[in-house]
Amino acid sequence: MTDLPKRFAAYYRPHRGLFALDFSSAVAAGLLELAFPIAVTLFIDRLLPTNQLGLIVLASLGLLLIYIVNAGLQVVVMYWGHMLGLKIETEMRRKAFDHLQKLSFGFFDNQKTGHLVARLTKDLEEIGEVAHHGPEDLFIAIMTLIGALVLMLWVHVPLALMTAIIVPVTAILTAVYGKRMTATWHALYGRVAEFNARIEENIGGIRVVQAFANEDHERALFAENNGNYLATKLEAYKVMAASMSLSYLSMRFVQVVVMLAGAWFVVRGEMTAGGFIGFLLLVNVFFRPIDKINSIIETYPKGLAGFQRYCQFLDTRPDIADCDGAKPVERLKGAIDYCNVSFGYGAEKPVLSALDLAIKPGETIAFVGSSGAGKTTICSLLPRFYDVTKGAILIDGIDIRDMTLKSLRSNIGIVQQDVFLFAGTIRENIAYGRLDATEAEIVEAARGARLEGVIAALPAGLDTIVGERGVKLSGGQKQRLAIARILLKNPPILILDEATSALDPETERAIQQSLAELAKGRTTLIVAHRLATIAHADRIVVIEEGLIAEQ
Ligand code: ADP
Ligand code: MG
Repeated sequence: MTDLPKRFAAYYRPHRGLFALDFSSAVAAGLLELAFPIAVTLFIDRLLPTNQLGLIVLASLGLLLIYIVNAGLQVVVMYWGHMLGLKIETEMRRKAFDHLQKLSFGFFDNQKTGHLVARLTKDLEEIGEVAHHGPEDLFIAIMTLIGALVLMLWVHVPLALMTAIIVPVTAILTAVYGKRMTATWHALYGRVAEFNARIEENIGGIRVVQAFANEDHERALFAENNGNYLATKLEAYKVMAASMSLSYLSMRFVQVVVMLAGAWFVVRGEMTAGGFIGFLLLVNVFFRPIDKINSIIETYPKGLAGFQRYCQFLDTRPDIADCDGAKPVERLKGAIDYCNVSFGYGAEKPVLSALDLAIKPGETIAFVGSSGAGKTTICSLLPRFYDVTKGAILIDGIDIRDMTLKSLRSNIGIVQQDVFLFAGTIRENIAYGRLDATEAEIVEAARGARLEGVIAALPAGLDTIVGERGVKLSGGQKQRLAIARILLKNPPILILDEATSALDPETERAIQQSLAELAKGRTTLIVAHRLATIAHADRIVVIEEGLIAEQ
């Protein structure tokens, strides 16, 4: 990950103008900061003794002007500087979300949703913060540090050298605490991701939790996550408190020494009063970037750790993607050939081995067999949710890996046991089958799925909100909605994976009609337990341990 700074810098490129504006304003503000103590020195030493009131008023007005300019610069840095960070943050989030859409089932099988959500939200927010403050803060801190030191040397060399002692002291503090800080932030991210995942899973499964009356168990698990978070964040604050107070103390100690020594120089006539006051102001200007560097030490590791995770995420290659030379296919006829297909989810034992199966266009084929035999797996290989490890699957004589994913998947419709609905209206959920469908087509699809009675009975009709994952609908209604969605999509190939297994026999019988309608004229793969479900099948295939036991 040595190219991290380069990759970070690449995000600034589209915003060069904004960056230049922000950066130059921040630099100008820093310079004005330096000019102020000098102005005070000149004011006291040169202007005051002249007793010229007009000049004094003029100088004050000049000072006011400087402050007004500075206020304007602050606005630029505050608004446009943050705009820069925000633009980079949203661009990164867009890229991450885009990448998320490309990742395969195999990736999501091994992820916790809460972790992924944390990456796209909190991580990127912290990166955005660094993107804004990052380069300019560090540059300005160093610039003011050096500038103030030069001016102090110009005013009084021995005093300046005395003040500069703070630099090695701070460096030692940074060396001691910086590493611990980085490590603690890394750990803290892990803790946050952990409890995000815990909360996410708890809410998703809250109905199961309450059905089992396992709230206490969940509370205990959460208390552990929460406790870990508390301990880690406390550790972070402990390190922060120690380093901040030590750094504050050493700075103030130096300041007191400088005051004493300065007073002595003034008494001995080696320094003017104005020079002394100006010098004390310079000491404060000199200390500010040291404070800044301390806070940079706090925010940088957070942003950097986040950026590193972000890069790692973008670098995970989607293991299912368009192969080289893949071509889009039009509407397929639906002749399916599994040729010598082997597949396993992991390196361990294969789920399918050397499966051969030919399905004619328009044929309805049913898979039966014990649970875990590999029926769902056979179906999942067809839309390339996973890729075969050996052999090939052909549709209309073309290897599915020679088709673009989009065109392949547009030819296949799937209805599963647990229907996932989006938290919108019935209309939106049906239209998900084809986003550009007209109102008439949506109504027609609803009728085909025999959903029109259900819709008519609802006060809001098609605009009824289905609730998260469709919780406000019954199992049969959800299944019908899923069928309507596929009717709208109208693919030549259909997969019904235990589509009616969760329903009671009566509802199942009612839905059979909708399914029969759906299967008409399509190559259909049915997975089912009940004989009634597969009565219409042209052929029944028994799967045992990933092999065809009988037909
Ligand atoms: P069926 O649909 O016939 O009940 P599956 O095809 O779902 O069976 O599963 C076949 C085997 O593959 C099972 O042993 C199951 O544990 C395993 N399996 C299914 N899905 C996954 C997955 N996403 N990751 C790892 N193993 C899986
Ligand atoms: Mg299954």
